[in-house]
Formats: sequence, C-alpha cells, structure tokens
Amino acid sequence: MKEKIYLSSPHMGGSEQTYVNEAFETNWIAPLGPNVEQFEIAIENYLGSNNHVAALSSGTAAIHLALIMLGVERDDEVICQSFTFSASANPIMYQSATPIFVDSEPDTWNICPHHLEEAIKDRISNGKKPKAIIAVHLYGMPYKVDEVRKISEKYEIPVVEDSAEALGSSYKGQKCGTFGDLSILSFNGNKIITTSGGGALVSRNLKHKEKAIFLATQARDAAVHYQHSEIGYNYRLSNISAGIGRGQMEVLDKHVGLRRDMNQFYKDIFQNTAGVQVFNEPNADYFSNHWLSCILVDRKTSGFSNEDIRLAMAENNIECRPLWKPMHLQPVFKNAPYYGDKVSEQLFEIGLCLPSGSNLQNEEKVKINDILIHLIEK
Ligand SMILES: *Cc1c(COP(=O)(O)O)cnc(C)c1O
Repeated sequence: MKEKIYLSSPHMGGSEQTYVNEAFETNWIAPLGPNVEQFEIAIENYLGSNNHVAALSSGTAAIHLALIMLGVERDDEVICQSFTFSASANPIMYQSATPIFVDSEPDTWNICPHHLEEAIKDRISNGKKPKAIIAVHLYGMPYKVDEVRKISEKYEIPVVEDSAEALGSSYKGQKCGTFGDLSILSFNGNKIITTSGGGALVSRNLKHKEKAIFLATQARDAAVHYQHSEIGYNYRLSNISAGIGRGQMEVLDKHVGLRRDMNQFYKDIFQNTAGVQVFNEPNADYFSNHWLSCILVDRKTSGFSNEDIRLAMAENNIECRPLWKPMHLQPVFKNAPYYGDKVSEQLFEIGLCLPSGSNLQNEEKVKINDILIHLIEK
C-alpha cells in the first residue's frame, strides 16, 4: 500500500521532545507544571495586546467553560454558526441550553451578520434574548469581525470566538483568538499546531483566566481541606502535552507560511480551470492561516464534481474531505431553530478540503498535482 497522504497531520518542529523529556526528568507528569506555564506564556506573547491564556485539555472544554462563565444555563438560548465542526455547538447541549443556528455569508463562509441580527431580533420577540454568540473562523478564515462585534454590542450579547482552526490568522493586523469576549483555541492532532490533544481559553481579562483554571481543576475553594462551592471539571492540560505545545509555538509562523504555500499551490493548479474556485481572503483586511485549503466545484462548468476529485484522490491513498456538514442539517440538531438562506448548504454540496499539511513533501505535491491535472484535462 502506498504511503497515505493526509488532509492535515502533526508536524513536529524539533524541540518538542526536549520539553517532554524535561517533564520526565523533573517528574512533572501531571496536569500542571513548568511546561503548562511556559506554553501559556508563549501563546500570550504570540497573541500580544494583553491576552491571558488558560491551557486546557481540549478546545471543546474551552468552549464549555466559556459558556459556563457567561452564565449559560438550562433552557437558555445560544446562537452558533451552523457551518462548523460539531464541537462548536456540543457544549451548548452540555449546559442543557438550546442552540440557535445561523447561516454563513459567501465571502468568509462564516456567520452571516444579516441573519445573525435577524435571529437575535426574532428570539427577543419570542421572549428570550440569546445568552451568547459563537462565531467561528472556519478553515482559518477570519469571520466578519467588525460587523459581528457591532451586533454583539448593539444587543449586548457576548461573543465566544471559536478560533480552534485559526491560530496564526489575523483580521486588520490583529490576531485571531483576541476578538471575543472569550476566545478559544484547539491543539488537536490535525490543527495548525498540536499538543496531541489540547485547547485554551483566551481573554483580555486576567480574572477570566483565573476563573477558567479554577473550574478546570475541580473548583477547589481556598481551604487546606477539599471544599467545593461550585461544580468543577477536570479540564486542565497535561504538562507532557504542554511540552509538545512549547515546541510547536516555536515553529507556528513557519508552519502558517507553509500552509499558505499549499493554498498557492492549489491556486496555481486551478488558475485556468473554469468552475473551480480556491477559497481565499475576500480582501486585504483578512489574513488566513489556510489551515485547510478548500475548493468549490461547479460541475456544469468544470466537467467534474467535488466527489470525482475525492474519489480520484482516494484511489491513490490521498485523503480529501467534504466541507463541514452544517449543524442545522445534522440529525442530532434537527429540532434546533435555524436562520439562513442555504449558503452553508450550498458550500457543503459543492465544496472539498484538499491535503493542506505544512509537512507535505515535494514528491507528494507532484502526485497530487498529477492527479488534479489529469482530471482537469480529461
Ligand atoms: C477542532 C475544533 C474544535 C474543538 O477542538 P478540540 O480541541 O478538538 O476539542 C472546536 N471548534 C472547531 C471549529 C474546531 O475545528
């Protein structure tokens, strides 16, 4: 069997192992220790402008804590971008709250400001003001930050910025992960950097970081004995994982550059192909890490479909994947209210994610190129 080419696979920089070994040598084999602190500092320095970071066991845990910290409780309503990975929405259910899904706009594929405001107005007129807005920088592309913030301020509803896919992206020169009332990052195995599994909650407010760590470590009151006045969680990041994260932060910008090169690679391949559009920044305000490179295929014009590409690649042991299936189309969320206009449905229908890793070798790119050119010329 030929070596498989993945959509996005872990890419170590070199010093990860050193930090992990340090954890062993000093016996910090626990969900606390020097690597956790140093990893947090590295992210804080990277994001700049006074951000505070709590390293957690996953991005999903970070979203869950963000909702708890915003006071989301049973039967509350939380607005969530429909076009996303299920992890954006699942924590709403953990709180027994109701997700209200909102469609995307075609420029960034992220939450549509128009439908967002429509949803808010309608929910308020139904008697319930949503407790939070979960906006996502999908595939690393910043959402319409200014427009979403304006609506959030107008209706006084806080934003949870899901930046799980967008570490290294920026909007008007400011880093993604710094725009929400609370923001989250993910370091899962397939993300732009990995700790094998992990996430973080980011805030401009130091108290938020302290509260997140308190909740993530079983909510222990300040007492010698174990005393609890709140329900806690076991959501802190391990010192071993954080060692991997420290090494990954050293190569983050280099890897963002390589992902962006992959995007250019696909733009070059498809530059003269009518009917195939490589997803790109709408204008210079947006800087995407291009975590995954995606295309839209209009089969009537191109003569082949997104599924034709996926199958041709799969035959050669190369992984491609459909775009995220919108949450309002998921069986598990079939009863959730939805506001939109079929934009995300259409994207799901004709889109495809292509191999995008920062570690793809030249011979692998040649292979991908040959298969795509063959399809184009057929
Ligand atoms: C990966 C991801 C998450 C969840 O992060 P985990 O660390 O895997 O729990 C949340 N939202 C989006 C958009 C993601 O891609």
